[in-house]
Amino acid sequence: MRTVSVEELQHIESLIRSCPLCYVGMADEQGVPYVLPMNFGYEEEVIYLHSAQEGRSISILGKNPQVCITFCTEPRLVWQDKEVACSYRMRAESVICHGNVSFEEEYDEKVKALDIIMQQYSDRAFSYSAPAVKNVKIWKVPIDKVTAKEFGVPGTKANLYKDRKVF
Ligand SMILES: Cc1cc2nc3c(=O)[nH]c(=O)nc-3n(C[C@H](O)[C@H](O)[C@H](O)COP(=O)(O)OP(=O)(O)OC[C@H]3O[C@@H](n4cnc5c(N)ncnc54)[C@H](O)[C@@H]3O)c2cc1C
Repeated sequence: MRTVSVEELQHIESLIRSCPLCYVGMADEQGVPYVLPMNFGYEEEVIYLHSAQEGRSISILGKNPQVCITFCTEPRLVWQDKEVACSYRMRAESVICHGNVSFEEEYDEKVKALDIIMQQYSDRAFSYSAPAVKNVKIWKVPIDKVTAKEFGVPGTKANLYKDRKVF
């Protein structure tokens, strides 16, 4: 694997930012996978997530903080010949990130993370009540490894970012 260029990194970041949600995969002590759809924020090679203080995901992450987070752009159905089933494709790009979750406990850092998450969904500035900030669990995932892949494009452009390590 090689490190991708700044242009490729910027493209991957734009893919992440274009997604409304992500899928967070984790594995419990027995290796049983558990994947959750979640909202997110992204800034400077870190994915931010938020949740309740307790639940199955929190229990799993307490034992194994490794996660695999997948993003997929809005897919579009394309075809070369409308009559031929095997010429149909889904055109989309997807990104897979690996990293370890740490929970942010510091109040001001939690507010910063909430701002980053809200910026993914709105241009507005928000304020948060102190109890809401205290009650929310903030997940920080510095990205250790990322790959991206393009689908549904005929020819050599497909798989443009396959198996390239970025961070
Ligand atoms: C579009 C979307 C965005 C979301 N964004 C967030 C977010 O930003 N933060 C957040 O905390 N949650 C979010 N959720 C909900 C999230 O997917 C989980 O349901 C939630 O985090 C609770 O997870 P838990 O492990 O604590 O579940 P628990 O409450 O411990 O769940 C108990 C059991 O319920 C089942 N279960 C839990 N979640 C789901 C699910 N999503 N679908 C089907 N079965 C389930 C599992 O089998 C689990 O063992 C989102 C859901 C959707 C659909």
